[in-house]
Amino acid sequence: MEARNSAERKPHAVLIPYPVQGHINPLFKLAKLLHLRGFHITFVHTEYNHKRLIKSRGHNALDGLSDFHFETIPDGLPTTDEDADVTQDIVSLSKAVRENLLTPFCNLLARLNHSATPVTCLVSDCGMTFTLQAAQELSLPIVIFPPASACSLLAAMHYRTLFDKGLIPLRDESYLTNGYLDTKVDWIPGMKNFRLKDFPDFIRSTDPNNFMVEYIMEVADNMHKASVIILNTFHELENDALNALSSMFPSLYPVGPFPSFLSQSPQNHLASLGSNLWKEDTWCLEWLESKKPKSVVYVNFGSITVMSPEQLLEFAWGLANSKRPFLWIVRPDLVIGGSVVLSSEFVNETSDRGLIASWCPQEEVLNHSSIGVFLTHCGWNSITESICAGVPMVCWPFFADQPTNCRLICNELGIGIEIDTDVKRKKVEKLVNELMTGEKGKKMRQKVMELKKMADEDTKPGGLSYMNLEKVISEVLLKQN
Ligand code: UDP
Repeated sequence: MEARNSAERKPHAVLIPYPVQGHINPLFKLAKLLHLRGFHITFVHTEYNHKRLIKSRGHNALDGLSDFHFETIPDGLPTTDEDADVTQDIVSLSKAVRENLLTPFCNLLARLNHSATPVTCLVSDCGMTFTLQAAQELSLPIVIFPPASACSLLAAMHYRTLFDKGLIPLRDESYLTNGYLDTKVDWIPGMKNFRLKDFPDFIRSTDPNNFMVEYIMEVADNMHKASVIILNTFHELENDALNALSSMFPSLYPVGPFPSFLSQSPQNHLASLGSNLWKEDTWCLEWLESKKPKSVVYVNFGSITVMSPEQLLEFAWGLANSKRPFLWIVRPDLVIGGSVVLSSEFVNETSDRGLIASWCPQEEVLNHSSIGVFLTHCGWNSITESICAGVPMVCWPFFADQPTNCRLICNELGIGIEIDTDVKRKKVEKLVNELMTGEKGKKMRQKVMELKKMADEDTKPGGLSYMNLEKVISEVLLKQN
């Protein structure tokens, strides 16, 4: 497969993610997969993120290979503090995507078309709604990639139905707490046992013109114009949702889970090409070396989750009281309204078995033999990475698709346990210990290992996801116009 087209000019795929971490990472892995299949790659970042990548990883991480290039387009947002390690606000970003990106993207494609390797196909995040128009104008085949679970995509596809049935917007603020969100929504094929509160959380609004709800509905409508859709999931993980989606989109293919490209993997020449916007504290891997197998609680709430100082304290004391070793990733902007302050009492209590860092190479961490449990916010990447590493999860969903993912893994798949939004230290301690050594934990570990094996099988040559990607490559990305 690698030799495909070697005699001719390589096909040239341009990939463009929605510009936040959780969207960049999976598309970047797909770019590496396509590169291994013989594609010349151009990966498009916003100027803002490109600067952050250089700051976090240095120039080397961005100019590693002759046929794997990076380009940038401006997002048109006011420049924020160059030193701030924050992801831009998603409402402003989504507005910017709508209003500012089509022209610079088309200009970029036109420039690339005048180079030695003209563009032959596009792969776009579904949130970059303007790319279908660009593909049409330039007669390029395009594959659309929603970097979410099949389940949350299905839920988002039904936002309009919820609206039409009068279930959203919420009548008033009291509906957030009066039990209304427990309303069963079991009439959506592929989503049995789901409740309103399990939908991507933008529906928790009383505003009939809520921007994010409108944006999701626009993205959903746009999906119907896409000729091919791929997902970072696999059949055994989300069979029901995938079947339901297939009846809406005849050309929808699960091609995941995308592999990790760890430094010790056979494709390690690609491991140096990175996509993390924060600088990684790699010394935490050394620290893990000193820990016993499956003994460490790994805690990470991803790139966007924030919490109150009170919630931070509950997590901190829950971890301390569990008496387990823990690696806790605390981003500088994790706590609402200020910097993270943990008392000297907590630090003294846990100094022999706790490590706090601000960002880590998550997949390397999850695949370390010392990790026993992952306390996660349920971002789809974190979940798929945890499954690929065979690690069960304690779940504290925060926003967007995370409640939907949480319901899937806790209730449908049985590989996680949920903690209430109103987190209490006793519960953290109890659930962490339950998963580490309890009967429930044992079952979940077995189940997640079974899923890991299925994921390995599906992504091997000849496996379901592997063959789906082959089909998309040969029937769409290599299609001659
Ligand atoms: N990640 C990482 N190191 C960290 C935190 C996150 O490498 O310390 C990566 C993680 O592996 C995943 C992505 O950032 O690929 C986060 O995506 P996810 O969907 O889990 O959550 P989001 O950040 O979008 O809420």
